[in-house]
Amino acid sequence: MADLKPARGTIASARAGVRRVFRFAPSPNGYLHLGHAFSALLNRRLAEESGGRLLLRIEDIDPERSRPHFEAAIIEDLAWLGLAWEQTPRRQSEHMSDYRAALDQLTRRGLAYPCFCSRKEIAEACADRKDWPLDPDFSPLYPGACRHLSMAERASRIAGGARFALRLDMEKALAEAAAPLIYREFHEGSDGAVVGAAPALWGDAPIGRRDAPTSYHLACTLDDHLQGVTDVVRGVDLEAATGLHRLLQALLGLRTPDYRHHRLVRDEHGRKLAKSKSAVPLRELRAKGTTPEALRAFLALEMGRDF
Ligand code: GLU
Repeated sequence: MADLKPARGTIASARAGVRRVFRFAPSPNGYLHLGHAFSALLNRRLAEESGGRLLLRIEDIDPERSRPHFEAAIIEDLAWLGLAWEQTPRRQSEHMSDYRAALDQLTRRGLAYPCFCSRKEIAEACADRKDWPLDPDFSPLYPGACRHLSMAERASRIAGGARFALRLDMEKALAEAAAPLIYREFHEGSDGAVVGAAPALWGDAPIGRRDAPTSYHLACTLDDHLQGVTDVVRGVDLEAATGLHRLLQALLGLRTPDYRHHRLVRDEHGRKLAKSKSAVPLRELRAKGTTPEALRAFLALEMGRDF
């Protein structure tokens, strides 16, 4: 695994003179739509304005939903938009050993434990409990059945071939992350404010999947560090995730980038595009004769930002 030097409690304030690194990190489980175009173009604009670099990362840890043809389409659509990359994109599926090493480290330190529960079992366990809290993605917080299994019980289930995810023990993790969990947030129009992370909202979040030795949260946080990302610019729908990412940074000794959570392109009913039928793929717009210039002009008008 690449070198992970401790950088506890660092915040990206002392970065003057450092060339900034931005990234666009789509998941190849569908075609890009206008929301992705906005995020990618905003990243490029901010990278250009700061004399920085822009990297592309393909977040393909989900073996069920990631498809090579979506990845090829993403690269083609971004080229059509006029985006170019300095380096070969980092494909997360090729770096599972990095994620596994981080997971092993957290497990050895007693901060992660195997969870054998299926989604259905978790839903059932919470069903009778009135007002059981949900995490920011609207999944019930893990009620904790596997948290207290004995080592022997865990070992025997694993030896018996039971499938398991790995969950972060939130209480222990918070106790171990001694540094203040803060980061700089540059919401649109702001010069940057130091904000507090709220990882506890996620409860015992899964950090390793049943089918991959990582979760989105772990792979994304680790890769931002390994790729030297200084500025994470992504939709406001991922703002709550940053709380958990900040905790993982503290636990693994990773640098904390600056964050800018931008507003989302919405459809005419105000719905987030990903969830909406009007998330017309960029390639469909292109097939209908839309030009990248027209698309940029539309986004500039809609989002009040020029590209
Ligand atoms: N792969 C994530 C997505 O497509 C984005 C992750 C990120 O920007 O942190 O929603």
